[in-house]
Amino acid sequence: MNKEFQDALPVIRRLKEHGFEAYFVGGSVRDQLLKKEIKDVDIASSAAPEQVKALFEKTIDIGSLHGTMIVIVGGIHYEITTFRTESAYEDNRRPSGVTFVSSLKEDLKRRDFTVNAMAMDDEGRIIDYFQGKEHAEAKLITTVGSPHERFSEDALRMMRAVRFVSQLGFSLSGDTYEAICEKTHLLEKISVERKTAEFEKIMAGDGSGRALKLVAETGIIDYLPGLDGKKQHLLKACALEINGLSSTEERWTALLDVLEINSIEAFLKSWKLSNRQIEMIAKNSLYLQKRKKSEWTRLSVYEAGLHCTLEVEAVYCLIKGKALSCERTAELKALYQSLPIHSKNELAIGGADLMKISSQKPGPWMGELLKKIELAVVNDEVENSKEAIKEMLASCNLI
Ligand code: ATP
Ligand code: MG
Repeated sequence: MNKEFQDALPVIRRLKEHGFEAYFVGGSVRDQLLKKEIKDVDIASSAAPEQVKALFEKTIDIGSLHGTMIVIVGGIHYEITTFRTESAYEDNRRPSGVTFVSSLKEDLKRRDFTVNAMAMDDEGRIIDYFQGKEHAEAKLITTVGSPHERFSEDALRMMRAVRFVSQLGFSLSGDTYEAICEKTHLLEKISVERKTAEFEKIMAGDGSGRALKLVAETGIIDYLPGLDGKKQHLLKACALEINGLSSTEERWTALLDVLEINSIEAFLKSWKLSNRQIEMIAKNSLYLQKRKKSEWTRLSVYEAGLHCTLEVEAVYCLIKGKALSCERTAELKALYQSLPIHSKNELAIGGADLMKISSQKPGPWMGELLKKIELAVVNDEVENSKEAIKEMLASCNLI
């Protein structure tokens, strides 16, 4: 049993001591089997949320109505979910209510894919009612039960299937693939936020190329914001290993470039990204276009800032079919660090100084002149000191 599970054993044991059943479930059991890094250790138990709450000192109620409690033990958060089945599915979306059930088997049956429907007890024994192990060995994503039914219950599962192809490097089983092709229209009912979360994971997984190909081929693409008519473009994007990029913003920047999206802000808004993300990605896209035309200059690195410069360079290298090397990163960092200023606030002269020197009234001329001074300082044409700048202004008849 991996360390992550061992650390969580006191949680399972405490529940068991009080007469409840408790098992490790879901992604962590799958990832241990696949020898992948284990993220969150989730637990399923026969204890009701209130009973869980009563047993642990530190708990956070994140959805007791849906049967989920977080307990904190040894500084680690564990999600404990009461055995449940998702009663009625409305509109091909997650159900509004859940029914608690008494058996682990019923709880596992409501889970999406067989590899996600295994449990492990506190002795490390795997409980596998739905051939999860077999499918893990065959590297297959296949639904628990009929894929048609399971996708009709919750259409997001179609995107989750593709997400696991990307994350795990698996393939879709034949009937799961076919059911997705038939049911993509149900994605219409799914909120953009849930689609975005899955799509970002699709882009980030090691198998992003194959997964994006599935997005295009199955027709999922038709139900994603702003991707109407972009099938050929998306197929082109499959060849780029965007998962190799290190941030979500870099991946969106690369994708936007291949998709040839014109109104970038509107596109990103339609995916309901945060304003901050939109701003960062739009800025990246702008500088990527500049980078395609010419090498970085002191000025472009100054204007873009170090973070954006490095993100854009990584995307640029990817598009050119190479990886961003450590040397190149170091070179750009050195260029940035060699700049005399990193923002206009660091200029040795300000609007008030200009008025004093020129005895002119304030006006737009000040901003224009400050911009010229800023450029001259960044380009090392003048030292960033009041005296040097005054001298330059006088000698160039700028004031
Ligand atoms: P990750 O490691 O990326 O978090 P995960 O398998 O833990 O992967 P989660 O989205 O965290 O994925 O979900 C946890 C578990 O809950 C899944 O393994 C699966 O058993 C179940 N599950 C989550 N979403 C659904 C869904 N829409 N339908 C059915 N089961 C689901
Ligand atoms: Mg998880």
